[in-house]
Amino acid sequence: MKASITATNAELPPVLSDALLRRFDAPGPRYTSYPTADRFVEAFGAIDCLRALSQRGQRGASGPAPLSVYLHIPFCESVCYYCACNKVITKHHERAVEYLDALELELQLVVDAVGPGRAVSQLHFGGGSPTFLSDAEISRLFSLLKGAFQLKPGAEVSIEVDPRTVTVERLVHLRQLGFNRISFGVQDFDAAVQQAVHRIQPFEQVQALMLAARRLGFESINVDLIYGLPRQTPQSFAHTVAQVSGLRPDRIALYAYAHLPQRFKPQRRIVMDELPGAAQRVAMLGGAIAGFIAHGYSYIGMDHFALPDDSLAVAKRQGRLHRNFQGYSVQPDGDLIGLGVSAIGRVGATYYQNAKSLPEYYDALRQGLLPVVRGIALTRDDLLRRAVIMALMCQGRVDFESVELAHLIDMRSYFAEELAQLAQMAAAGLVEIEPGAIQVTAAGWFLVRAVAAVFDRHLRTDQQRERFSRVI
Ligand code: SF4
Repeated sequence: MKASITATNAELPPVLSDALLRRFDAPGPRYTSYPTADRFVEAFGAIDCLRALSQRGQRGASGPAPLSVYLHIPFCESVCYYCACNKVITKHHERAVEYLDALELELQLVVDAVGPGRAVSQLHFGGGSPTFLSDAEISRLFSLLKGAFQLKPGAEVSIEVDPRTVTVERLVHLRQLGFNRISFGVQDFDAAVQQAVHRIQPFEQVQALMLAARRLGFESINVDLIYGLPRQTPQSFAHTVAQVSGLRPDRIALYAYAHLPQRFKPQRRIVMDELPGAAQRVAMLGGAIAGFIAHGYSYIGMDHFALPDDSLAVAKRQGRLHRNFQGYSVQPDGDLIGLGVSAIGRVGATYYQNAKSLPEYYDALRQGLLPVVRGIALTRDDLLRRAVIMALMCQGRVDFESVELAHLIDMRSYFAEELAQLAQMAAAGLVEIEPGAIQVTAAGWFLVRAVAAVFDRHLRTDQQRERFSRVI
């Protein structure tokens, strides 16, 4: 059967054919950073990170810009078979105590470098499962952070929640602490799919939590979904899309499942024969896009939808979108401090990543060192390409003049090869190459990371590409 994405709404391109989708469906990064994390090198370590943090701490006459802080809690009680996150599966909740002690040490080292009381405009708890921690442990962490930083009025304070680990009472506690944004990991409501991925959480359970979150005044409620999971069909997933739309989350993130069992051990427990084929995946994606738009959601880009009055949708309309490790954001690009095992940070023209294993993470901190094990100092070429890639990913447009002025290059000669490559995409209707700009079309917006990948210097061989998930 030939699947195609047919428009039911003015925001969709008239016909985004499966032929077009498949033609440009190569593995590629999601560009939450550029260069992507696989390019980080061990030659960049704790000392380099410390230097970058200290330099940024002293910046500017009007004081340094506010920080974003990401905190990684790696623990989960049971494994979801599709999981590609850095996590530790354990039922031993006492393990959290040692972890919080280590986080406290790490936080102190960071504060020593950037200075005490730095303003924070965005604080995010991710994992793993942050709600693996008890209420008392989350309170402890929160007061440590409040002691170290100064949360700006109106700061975004968000947490990822595994619905199986919280009750309404726990949501009350999170809200009282100061969390104002919450993200529920749903993936799919179909019982057969939930069984196949070892994550059972009935619709009614999530519905009760979302209603409670709304009553409690969380300003933004997000739902994560995944298509391409075992036992999913276009029909079953359309039902999940309708159920989620009925719950009216402010934002929806829709991710494609990438089956990479050689890299991610839990995925070996997924039955290959139960995975949907390419045509079904295309039909699911098309059905989800059409379904969410029909239910009043705006398509933000790549894998995000939002209600039209949500700040993300407003920022999209006004050309103010940004992209960071959590995906699309309304927060201007700034320094991001990553805390916890495997956390990634961005400071000035550098990225860094902490140790991925707990023993290594603990070991560094016991020696009084930042647990940074790799990173990268961006070259001029990296900074230029990052600007182009992020402009494509966030605004769907690159104006040559602004890039030329900021980076002192001539776009047409510097990117001659890339522009020649883009000609194929222009012929397919994904981009328009104007005399002084590249404009992503409505159809191209659905394949924008394939467009951005053209400018990725590091992504030259297919071998490197295979490390990433496919675009569809
Ligand atoms: S998907 Fe989330 S909850 Fe499930 S094992 Fe991975 S990190 Fe834990």
